[in-house]
Amino acid sequence: SMEQHAKFDALTQVPNRREFQARAEQGWRRLIDEGSGNCALLLIDIDFFKAYNDTYGHLGGDACLKRVASVLRSNARGYEDFIARYGGEEFVLLLPGATLESAREIGERLREAVIAEQIEHTGSSIERGHVTVSIGGTSAPATTGKTPGDLIRVADECLYKAKASGRNAVITQ
Ligand code: GH3
Ligand code: MG
Ligand code: MG
Repeated sequence: SMEQHAKFDALTQVPNRREFQARAEQGWRRLIDEGSGNCALLLIDIDFFKAYNDTYGHLGGDACLKRVASVLRSNARGYEDFIARYGGEEFVLLLPGATLESAREIGERLREAVIAEQIEHTGSSIERGHVTVSIGGTSAPATTGKTPGDLIRVADECLYKAKASGRNAVITQ
């Protein structure tokens, strides 16, 4: 339907960024209404993806994105967990109710699941030339005056640190 076209990313078949924003605001409001509760968020970015396209071509890159999206989706299986394609080779996972500690554990699980997929990437020196992801994450109590965008900003800073630390890493704060 037209509605489905608007909600899902055509390439990876996971929800798109706009749908993520709607769901994040909805989940955030619910946590506020319930009077308590943390919300965690992970940003997941494929390492050296420009080099992947350079080696395997844009269609190869598209196929890689689909595989990574599928791995992430099947490892984000909590009842209210919500994964989306956030940008080019970047995904976001919303984890309502999750503490910082469980966000870190879930991030580690996703990082390892992508390695376990063993997608060849000769343009990367990590994991003997296989596709990896870097992940930044955070968790905060949902309160009025804050927004999911605040979580995104902190997660993005952590993602930057994960890249700077050598990639294939999870950093939470
Ligand atoms: P880093 O490890 O720091 O994340 O480096 P990177 O190369 O992954 O990051 P960079 O931002 O330099 O490059 C991202 C690349 O992702 C560039 C862009 O062409 C590619 N890309 C974005 N969207 C798509 C897509 O839909 N399909 C394909 N094949 N490539 C895409
Ligand atoms: Mg990126
Ligand atoms: Mg990248």
